Amino acid sequence: MSDDFSFRDIVELAQDVVIVTKATPLEAPGPEIVYVNPAFTQLTGFSATEAVGQNPRILQGKGTSESTCHEIRLALDKKEPIHVAILDYTKDGREYWLDLSIMPLRNAKGELTHFVAIERDVTGQKEMEKRLRELAERDPLTGLYNRRIFFETLDDQWELFQTKHETFSVIEIDIDHFKQFNDQFGHQAGDLVLKHVAGLIQTACRPQDIAARVGGEEFSMLLPGLTAKMALIIAESMRNMVKQASVKYDRHVLQAEISLGISEVMQNDLKDSAILRRADEALYLSKKKGRNQTNII
Ligand code: GH3
Ligand code: MG
Ligand code: MG
Repeated sequence: MSDDFSFRDIVELAQDVVIVTKATPLEAPGPEIVYVNPAFTQLTGFSATEAVGQNPRILQGKGTSESTCHEIRLALDKKEPIHVAILDYTKDGREYWLDLSIMPLRNAKGELTHFVAIERDVTGQKEMEKRLRELAERDPLTGLYNRRIFFETLDDQWELFQTKHETFSVIEIDIDHFKQFNDQFGHQAGDLVLKHVAGLIQTACRPQDIAARVGGEEFSMLLPGLTAKMALIIAESMRNMVKQASVKYDRHVLQAEISLGISEVMQNDLKDSAILRRADEALYLSKKKGRNQTNII
């Protein structure tokens, strides 16, 4: 093969980032960088002079996954190649997602001398994935989870209840006389009330709770680990919050109220639909007894 081109030139022209480090030390602070290509500088903001002599940790930050770093370390310890996605940081602190492959480089004698990392910025792709995931999981009007996620989480909770006897409760929520907002002020005003109430429901959630819009003006909350009595405290604080808050629409002040029904999973429930049926009945009771209240069945 004629060698009238240089492999170094090719690497310097590449759009992908190329980093070469020494093979050791793998423990902190990590192997020294001996080469970076111009694509590296373009992505990270570190010049070659700034990077060489440092170690790849200069690219990591608080969002970089510890477990991914550990996974990389395990592969390098075994002198094996590794391919991961990792969140890194530019010199001025901007986050980016990398598709990262690290390969061991050996000399003519077969001894490991260096590692080469070839990386591609996949931030745009990751953002698109996130947007698609949100579209698939969230109700577009309120931003709460959709029915599908509610029922999937209910399945998971039911499984935990059966295998580990972990209790959970469900709160069903329905806006009182919601149709009046549409009728008096129009559909847009109705939408605004939906968003407003959904926001308050979300505020009442703990991180492990799932709040979903399951119908037009109907919401369901799944509360892992909570008895009905504990769920009542959350339900009543939500009901009071909604009653006391209001939202402006043009010159109007819109003020909503909600009715709620609670149920806790029971030992003799045969299916997870049983808890939903009771929560539904409890909600129906709240409506029948005059609305703006919570009942437990
Ligand atoms: P109740 O106190 O018995 O719950 O009475 P309600 O008026 O709240 O209940 P009803 O079921 O009679 O009315 C619900 C209305 O919600 C009917 C429907 O047109 C409206 N709706 C459903 N989805 C949307 C939506 O996305 N936006 C708006 N603005 N209205 C919606
Ligand atoms: Mg309804
Ligand atoms: Mg209603």
